[in-house]
Amino acid sequence: MRPDAPAVLTRRACLGAAGLLLAGCRGPSAEAPDWTARWVGTDLERGHRLRDHGLPPASLPARRCGVLVLGGGVAGLTAARRLIQAGVDDVHLLELEDSAGGNARGHEVGGQPCPLGAHYLPLPGPSAREVQALLEELGLLRRKNGRWVADERHLCHSPQERLFYDGAWVEGLLPPAEAGSARLAQYRRLSQQVSNARQHLGFALPSHRARWTADHAALDGQTFAAWLDAQGFHDPGLRWYLDYCCRDDYGADSRRVSAWAGLHYFASRHGFHAPGDDAAEREPVLTWPEGNAWITRRMASAIGSDRLHGGQTVLQVRSDRGPQAGVQVLAWDEALGAARSWSAQAAVLALPAHVATRVWADAPKALTALAAATPTAPWLVANLRLKAPLLERVGAEPAWDNVPFGSPGLGYVDAGHQDLRPDRPRMLLTAYRALPEGERGALLTQSAHAWAQRLVDELSSLHPDLPQRLAEVHLMRYGHAMAIPAPGLRGHPARPALRQLGGRLQWAHADLAGCSVFEEACAAGAEAAERCLRALGRPAR
Ligand SMILES: Cc1cc2nc3c(=O)[nH]c(=O)nc-3n(C[C@H](O)[C@H](O)[C@H](O)COP(=O)(O)OP(=O)(O)OC[C@H]3O[C@@H](n4cnc5c(N)ncnc54)[C@H](O)[C@@H]3O)c2cc1C
Repeated sequence: MRPDAPAVLTRRACLGAAGLLLAGCRGPSAEAPDWTARWVGTDLERGHRLRDHGLPPASLPARRCGVLVLGGGVAGLTAARRLIQAGVDDVHLLELEDSAGGNARGHEVGGQPCPLGAHYLPLPGPSAREVQALLEELGLLRRKNGRWVADERHLCHSPQERLFYDGAWVEGLLPPAEAGSARLAQYRRLSQQVSNARQHLGFALPSHRARWTADHAALDGQTFAAWLDAQGFHDPGLRWYLDYCCRDDYGADSRRVSAWAGLHYFASRHGFHAPGDDAAEREPVLTWPEGNAWITRRMASAIGSDRLHGGQTVLQVRSDRGPQAGVQVLAWDEALGAARSWSAQAAVLALPAHVATRVWADAPKALTALAAATPTAPWLVANLRLKAPLLERVGAEPAWDNVPFGSPGLGYVDAGHQDLRPDRPRMLLTAYRALPEGERGALLTQSAHAWAQRLVDELSSLHPDLPQRLAEVHLMRYGHAMAIPAPGLRGHPARPALRQLGGRLQWAHADLAGCSVFEEACAAGAEAAERCLRALGRPAR
């Protein structure tokens, strides 16, 4: 515990304090709160322009360029970077929001940086070569004696994670298991099965760089929950943890995602380690106060403001064949309130599948089929600024990631965790919530305040004094945050076809993998750029 940290609330004292709070104000929700809440980060009008309005005439002067990249998330930024590296000078990128980054954008509350979405990146494995190259260029990785070494300043500082379990904080996220307990035996058996799956089946990130066999397809054909049941993994603590992992990476729990996705989560990265294993320490991850926006902002600035155009909603994309082969794009300029047509020799459409099918006139059948088969998860990300540090419960010290056991929420991350000042108070918390698909509509109909109240109520189980210490909440809502890797989705026959599309209009997005992580988006962008270069007859450098 830091010497200057706020008074520690012991378990007994905390229960007493909670009782006082309850007696004094009849529960956190009962009194008019002394905090404000508002939506930030996205303009719903823009996203829904495609759905709600017809195609406007192009009244702004037309523009021409070499290659257009449409969408400025990780996939689009990677595609633009690859094209520029290959010597295509007149690359232009159109992005709907005012700033690029997509699900990996950053924000500020009260002058403090924080994420709006993605907040960490595990050290890339051998298959994620584009990510390795990017991180090397950004100075985050360097080669030493033939191995990658990360710049420690950007690795998540210790303590990384803690779990609020049975009234106290414990280190790590796995529910505690006593020596000789049935739970520990289940942890060990799962660890062995994940290790066997890694060795004998093969998993990689990006996932298409591992082989795909009938055994993978059999896992893909069932839910993770059904597989766990069949394997006799019934311990409630283990099952909660696995559900938590699925919700954290895939936006849905083990009853919704495939057994392939459940195993892939562990087998493609760090494995699953029972307490006491040699490798039980969690793999280090790269993280920053503003989350993965630390990376996307640097990628955007390398492209340059003269080539990266924010506030441009792509409405329609057409590819022309024949001697005039090229791509025509109609985009709405949000600042000027009018549409412009762009023509380019080639384009990378770096938009989510459901948007790409809507704007791509004559979209390939494979894309339409994949979009129709892909369920998506709504998400809520809330940055909570405090007026004063929170009191602490007994147990493990405050960590970067702080998770309540048994909760449907994902807990919170301390946005200031990487700040090395010893006297730094914890004043900005980022709470994440993957929502059931049935709650998508409520993101539009319920107020920011109502959603913030739900989160505050949830987090008050960890910190009963939260309602009194809260100053403001900034909420970002995602109607379709990420693809859920439901059964059958990884093995969907459209996927290989989309990775081999010919022609000058290519699609790149994490949705192509059906699994929304940085490595997938990066690979999708780089590979789509390569296909564009081939279609243009330009040698890759
Ligand atoms: C809440 C949340 C937390 C996450 N946390 C992590 C994490 O910690 N680590 C991790 O690796 N991954 C995380 N992810 C996954 C994340 O989605 C991927 O890592 C990656 O950022 C996806 O990039 P993308 O380019 O494929 O997609 P997107 O980020 O969806 O990019 C698509 C872009 O297209 C733009 N666009 C959409 N429609 C139009 C249009 N009509 N015209 C122009 N532009 C348009 C969007 O604004 C966006 O910028 C998280 C996702 C969410 C939602």
